Amino acid sequence: MKIQEEYLHYIWKFQYFDKQNLTTCQGEKLIILSPGISNDHAGPDFLNAHVILNDISWHGHIELHVEASAWQAHKHHLDPAYENVILHVVWDNDKTIQHKDNTILPTLSLKNRTSPTLLQQYQELIQVPRTIPCENQIHQVADIVKTSMLDKALFQRLTNKNSLVYQLLANNQGDWEETAYQLLAYNFGFKINSAAMLELSLTLPLKIIKKHRNQPLQLEALLLGQAGLLTTNNKEIPDSYRASLVQEYTYLSHKYQLNTAKLSKIHWKFFRLRPANFPTIRISQLAQILHQQEHLLDWLIHTRPEILRNELCIIQSSYWQQHYTFEKSSTRKVPGLGVSSIENIFINTVVPLLVAYGKSHDQSSYIDGAIALLQSLPPEHNNITHKWKKLGMQVENAFDSQALIELFNNFCTQKKCLNCNIGITLLKAPLTSK
Ligand code: SF4
Repeated sequence: MKIQEEYLHYIWKFQYFDKQNLTTCQGEKLIILSPGISNDHAGPDFLNAHVILNDISWHGHIELHVEASAWQAHKHHLDPAYENVILHVVWDNDKTIQHKDNTILPTLSLKNRTSPTLLQQYQELIQVPRTIPCENQIHQVADIVKTSMLDKALFQRLTNKNSLVYQLLANNQGDWEETAYQLLAYNFGFKINSAAMLELSLTLPLKIIKKHRNQPLQLEALLLGQAGLLTTNNKEIPDSYRASLVQEYTYLSHKYQLNTAKLSKIHWKFFRLRPANFPTIRISQLAQILHQQEHLLDWLIHTRPEILRNELCIIQSSYWQQHYTFEKSSTRKVPGLGVSSIENIFINTVVPLLVAYGKSHDQSSYIDGAIALLQSLPPEHNNITHKWKKLGMQVENAFDSQALIELFNNFCTQKKCLNCNIGITLLKAPLTSK
């Protein structure tokens, strides 16, 4: 059976191997006092371990490889970050590894020291052709373990979402207001047009928006024009509203020299979208928010959720209440921002901003506010949460659904069961009963 490095990592981390009369491949007596701290970043796999080799105490790092020869294949012998490795932990010791000074790197092989049952159970778990490999066993796991895993998954999800906030913040030289605007624009793309909406906000700085905040027509002209959605072919005769937008945009784009960065129609997706989600409608709704709210960051992170919810009940301009596109009018009134879209903005804009702002300013009250907000919002209903519900997992609020989506997407489908508290608990059973 082919061993994965992830499995080696797991047995080293939890020390699930026979430690009696431990010796290195070079014959040195080995005692492990601390396996070190797992390192998710560049450098050795475990940091600050403590071992005794032939009665001499060593503090340093541990590097793991399925085959010892990977040390050279990965060019660790040339990397100063690996100079303080005190023990090489391998499955197969297929090559003797030397430090720069030609001394041999002490190596421990775990091949004959681990439980075949444990390995077999691990292989069986991850080889199951299901999107949630443990679905037949998860009911054996205590609720407290599942809860702790959901906390971990949610934390990871918030960290991932925060990375976009920090990236924007860095691009904006620490300007939180500009960052809040760009993140809100990104959110108004509702996934399918998010990249284009973000691009649009990047080409249309908030300082220009602010100068025209009190003129909704100019705001729409700037946003729709910059999005490339005002262009017409020669045969089209624009209606009067479109003609006014074109006139405004022609003047403003020239004034601010915006034309070079403008997007075009090919950046936008209309196909398979509900008409209420068309970018034309979403851009008009965003324009309404920019018209109504002068201080976006303050509004998003300091307004009480029940008030914010009301203020987010945005209705687009009257033209876009009767049209889906410039070419297509609607027989029924086009609705404003709906309940699920508002909840989506809470989850994907307000929560990441609260967490990022709280972390940056070292104020945990913002992070507590973000968690409380997620717990107060209803859960998302989609294929993933539906699957978990069928397995008996509680999906009572957005905290649960966000955590379960993360668990599914970034642990289960990637077979990262050894990084999951549920998987670790399931695999621990045969060893403890031995
Ligand atoms: S990652 Fe965790 S929850 Fe998902 S299948 Fe593996 S053990 Fe189960």
